[in-house]
Amino acid sequence: MADTTIGFAGLGRMGGNMAARLLGAGFPLTVWNRSATKSARFVEQGARLAGSPREMAAASEIVLTSLADPAAVTATYYGPDGILAGARRGAILVDMSTVSPSLAKQIAKDAAIAGARFLDAPVAGSIKAAEEGTLAILAGGDHDAYVACQEVFGAISRVSYHLGPNGSGATMKLISNAMLATVVQALAEAVALGEKAGLDSAAIVEVIGASSAAAPVVKAKAAAIAERRYQPAAFTLKLMQKDLWLALSLANELVVPMPTAALTHDMVVAATASGRGDHDFAAVTALMEQLAGVTNL
Ligand code: NAP
Repeated sequence: MADTTIGFAGLGRMGGNMAARLLGAGFPLTVWNRSATKSARFVEQGARLAGSPREMAAASEIVLTSLADPAAVTATYYGPDGILAGARRGAILVDMSTVSPSLAKQIAKDAAIAGARFLDAPVAGSIKAAEEGTLAILAGGDHDAYVACQEVFGAISRVSYHLGPNGSGATMKLISNAMLATVVQALAEAVALGEKAGLDSAAIVEVIGASSAAAPVVKAKAAAIAERRYQPAAFTLKLMQKDLWLALSLANELVVPMPTAALTHDMVVAATASGRGDHDFAAVTALMEQLAGVTNL
């Protein structure tokens, strides 16, 4: 019986789907979203609406957040109306956003002062996986808290990993997304060269998808690239820009060279600057096509 009270803040592309699965699994759910309109469908389906993150946390044994970036997470956890101000003693706070390990460690310290435990638990998998409950959860923090979340994690994921102390989940997510971005940048370059040499883009992505260079992301983005259709986005360029910057900041802090990720970051910045920030991150291909003269600038 799913009787743990859950709070969920951040009902965006990922969070909205995760919250829907928790409701579907029968958990008593209290929701909060910055733009109130996104909460309405959850309230219709039986969720309680909180007036602030503080009120949501006060009503919940486990609090989940899925927010855009470090600024959004900071705004939702801190301040007089924030989660930390309302957290119950003994509560478990789980942030599923992709943010920096340093922010995760800071929240964990402040949660402990409030008598709560914190897990950084970003997710791998995109909107479809969030809808189907097949995400992978990459967790860092207290192991007992991680174990206590298994029933909740079971409703939204196919697998979860406990990777170490706070910051470990965030680190795992950043290194994995830096690699994902570089794979898609390499694909974009291959597509641009192939097209300029006279190949058809649909054939290029199909053949690469069947080759030893194939990664699941190649297949996932094949149709979008062949049709030059990058909206609606699964994962936006804006969010990928954020993740690459967070990965490079960590690399800088730890003095680790990441030349490929650094170049990819700059191409993602260029694609965002060209007005495609809300397009799917595979739209780096559109930029490479323009730079190659395959399409008009
Ligand atoms: P999204 O659709 O843009 O949703 C972002 C959420 O953050 C919305 O609920 C938004 O509220 C909220 N938000 C933004 N700024 C805020 C602020 N200053 N204060 C409070 N709330 C704020 O993004 P998403 O794609 O769901 O991504 C959510 C997180 O999951 C990100 O950290 C992303 O990197 C990560 N992620 C995404 C994917 C993916 O494929 N999309 C996959 C894995 C991980 P409003 O509704 O008011 O704007």
